[in-house]
Amino acid sequence: MIKGYQSQLIDIYEKIRDQEIAALKIRREEINQKYPEIINIDNKIGKLCIKLSLNSIRNSNNREEEFKKIKDAITDLRAKKYELLVSKGYNPEYLNLQYRCPRCKDTGYIGINKCNCFKQKLVQLYYKNSGLTDTIKEENFKNFNINYYDSDRMGDEKFSPRKNMEILLDKILNDYLPNFKNHNDNLLFYGTSGTGKTFLSNCIAKELLDRGHLVVYRTSDELIKDLREIRFENNEFLEDLLINCDLLIIDDLGAEQITDFTVTEFFTLINKKILKKKKMLISTNLSLQTLTKHYAERITSRLFGNFKLFKFYTQDIRVKKNLAKK
Ligand SMILES: [Zn+2]
Repeated sequence: MIKGYQSQLIDIYEKIRDQEIAALKIRREEINQKYPEIINIDNKIGKLCIKLSLNSIRNSNNREEEFKKIKDAITDLRAKKYELLVSKGYNPEYLNLQYRCPRCKDTGYIGINKCNCFKQKLVQLYYKNSGLTDTIKEENFKNFNINYYDSDRMGDEKFSPRKNMEILLDKILNDYLPNFKNHNDNLLFYGTSGTGKTFLSNCIAKELLDRGHLVVYRTSDELIKDLREIRFENNEFLEDLLINCDLLIIDDLGAEQITDFTVTEFFTLINKKILKKKKMLISTNLSLQTLTKHYAERITSRLFGNFKLFKFYTQDIRVKKNLAKK
């Protein structure tokens, strides 16, 4: 399934370029009708550009001189074209092909390296296929409602659920997100189900995606499937993505089937990411004790030692939401 992404992306870039070429054609027709003299200049520039490239492959004694002459002529004509466009109230770039990503000129590549826009599009593809695009339309900070968290203290907890969440939100919004590039903070959200862990993870995912970071979201089940594909089908692309993404969100750790394979592969992945200083956000419904029981000591000590732990607690928010609807 993953292998199809590359060709999907190539299609996307082709479509973008076709759309921009079509849009330019329409703009040219418009100017041609209103101000044909500008198009005349533009055509002359085009011819000179062709001459220039032909000249660069032709061998002649005064090549340099010839080259400079054509270049100067192009510069003059361009200035004239821009001046005319501006005097008619247009953007000087109006007759140029526009690029949605000027860095890679909508090819997805800068030399042999993938452009950031390529990575972002890839993430969008992943989100689309994982169903999270729809999720984060709803589950984002705009819709985060702190009132779902009780203001009365609960059990032995030091803070009320609301105060607890306010402290966490403050850290996320005023430190974790704005300083994302500069810290290596891994987060572990734990607590019973219905306490908003996935919701907050999605809020964070959307915020980072919007800021151009490569975020990959996986439930622990999906992650195990990916790890199998990496191991048995040698999917290097997927491995690269999971290890080198800016943030890997692993949702619902503990819900997957735990075998020797999953424990080993999971440990290897966490280790690689920690060594490479690539961030993770893990959420689990399990308590820290159960987590330790489920996984080998080496994993949990890795998790507890290299992750900032946040406990989520409140009355089940889903129940509250349903009651509110009624
Ligand atoms: Zn680009």
